Amino acid sequence: MMRTIRYYCKAFRKIAAFEPLLIPLTLVLAVATGAKPFVNIYFSARVVSELSGARSVSTLTTLVLLCLGLNFALQILTEWLMPTFSMIRSRMYEKERMEIEHKLFTLDFAKLENSDFQELVHLHSESMEKVFSAFAQLCWMLRDFVTGVSTLVCAFILLAPLVRIGFTKTGEGFVHSPWFFIALLLFLAVSVVIILLLSNQTSRIWFSSLERYGKLNRLFRCYRDILSNYNSGKEVRLYKEQPLIEREATEALLTKGETILRETSQKSATASSYIAILGALVGFGVYVFIGVKGLLGLFTIEALVRYTGAFMQIISGVTSIAVTLGKSAEILPNLEYFFRIAETESKMEYGTKEVDLEKVEIEFRHVWFRYPGAENYTLKDISLKIGKGERLAVVGRNGSGKTTFIKLLCRLYDPDRGEILVNGVDLRTLSKDCCLRLFSVVFQDFKLFSLSVEDNMTAGETAESERLWRCLTEADVAKRVERMAKREKTTLYKDMDKDGVEVSGGEAQKLALARALYKDAPIVVLDEPTAALDPVAEHRIYQQFNNFVEGKTAIYISHRLSSCRFCDTIAVFRKGELVQCGTHDALLQEADGEYKQLWDAQAKYYLPPKETVNL
Ligand code: ADP
Repeated sequence: MMRTIRYYCKAFRKIAAFEPLLIPLTLVLAVATGAKPFVNIYFSARVVSELSGARSVSTLTTLVLLCLGLNFALQILTEWLMPTFSMIRSRMYEKERMEIEHKLFTLDFAKLENSDFQELVHLHSESMEKVFSAFAQLCWMLRDFVTGVSTLVCAFILLAPLVRIGFTKTGEGFVHSPWFFIALLLFLAVSVVIILLLSNQTSRIWFSSLERYGKLNRLFRCYRDILSNYNSGKEVRLYKEQPLIEREATEALLTKGETILRETSQKSATASSYIAILGALVGFGVYVFIGVKGLLGLFTIEALVRYTGAFMQIISGVTSIAVTLGKSAEILPNLEYFFRIAETESKMEYGTKEVDLEKVEIEFRHVWFRYPGAENYTLKDISLKIGKGERLAVVGRNGSGKTTFIKLLCRLYDPDRGEILVNGVDLRTLSKDCCLRLFSVVFQDFKLFSLSVEDNMTAGETAESERLWRCLTEADVAKRVERMAKREKTTLYKDMDKDGVEVSGGEAQKLALARALYKDAPIVVLDEPTAALDPVAEHRIYQQFNNFVEGKTAIYISHRLSSCRFCDTIAVFRKGELVQCGTHDALLQEADGEYKQLWDAQAKYYLPPKETVNL
């Protein structure tokens, strides 16, 4: 209960921050909606009273005109405010999404990569699918709740004289005594509590079923993505995975999903029937009370009309409040996920220092690093210097820590121990902007976006056309871009644009290289930059490599050891340790060294045995 209240308070504060007008507007709408029925009840009762009494035409006309006028005014007010309300609510929804997106974009990479955080993001987007937006729902709930409360307040105002009547008439048994009215109130109170409990139970049933169904849905979406994606389509067809996926999807959705929905519908139908029965009983009780009093002549006709209407509105008000409270179980998880994501703090702090970006020197000093939650260190006591304008190749077996070394260098993670210095300055003390300007990286699992070639390369900034084409040429992909219908303005891939161009893995890798060149950062990091290239393209890129990294500090990760020969230094990693460091020739001299083993393993497929021995 306290948790619910805490989240509601936070949520309303957030709504007020997103859209300050929204809550006042919601309240005005709610009061207008809640007051509307009472205008009719009040004036109908007055008209009936007038008709059975003085029958003054002018009074009757005034009453009718007042009733129509008020109805009209409330209707116009509601109709007029509704579009503004909807527009502001949609804008708030966009702001809510933007806040999450901004958080995901700015959060430490370490947090983003964390599996618990990834699960939280999944849960949040699934709950968004269910409830659309908890903040928007909350506005509806506030509207319904306040409508319910205003309905009750108006009803009790109309019923106020009843207390006086009930308590002033005494004698002649139970019907005349105040106890009759008290009994009715008790009956109403008990019914209201039961209705609230039942409706809370119904929404819990629905929510737990949505939770279970949501998990199946995630599975189904995953299958659908696999089946509809042409990249995975090859494997699906060649390995005949279709029947397996279809069987799983059918089993998951049709069988398990149907069982969940059937159970839920049955349970909730039972609870809803009880609510309907109770509602009918309450109505019956109210009519008995008013009918008996009316028959005994204790109520005037006006009082009969007014009380009947007021009592019926109590039921409507209570139902509205019950439904609203019931929805709480649906939106609470969404609110919780939102705030947990929004309040996730980045641990990484930036300093204010800048370094000369013209020529950069890097030093790793006794760097130790362990992934969050991992038992063992991935990098152990790495000490290494990369001089200004030097070219370093990083080699090692899979999982030896090469990519992690790059992630630390680019400050996606911070070392647990030791320090990384750029021109003698600790990386952690540099400004964020300076850090970002330091590196041009092409990761092994690089990503291009479904934007134009130009936007991919310039990150949306105004392109310098000559520089852009020079980089495309250096990366050996200019001719391919020239052939595209809109040249550099052509969209890559078809996700956003049906006329988008599908580029091959090798072409994409060249575009990623061109993007890195265009950034023109002082440190160039290439992680397996030629893995997807054909031998001719690879050869061309190597020829161009000197031009690429002219005057820059370059770090180069590759499994093709022959391609590391043009680097000044080769750093060899094994199980997170830097086991060798030197030139190609020097490292080959170390007969038992890791580098020689790796070299021999590769060379025997390319060179005659004699040459392998001589190397
Ligand atoms: P390499 O690039 O040499 O193949 P990596 O640096 O990618 O090696 O990985 C080194 C080790 O760190 C591997 O054992 C890998 O499983 C582990 N590792 C990589 N990324 C993560 C991560 N995000 N969380 C936990 N362990 C990771």
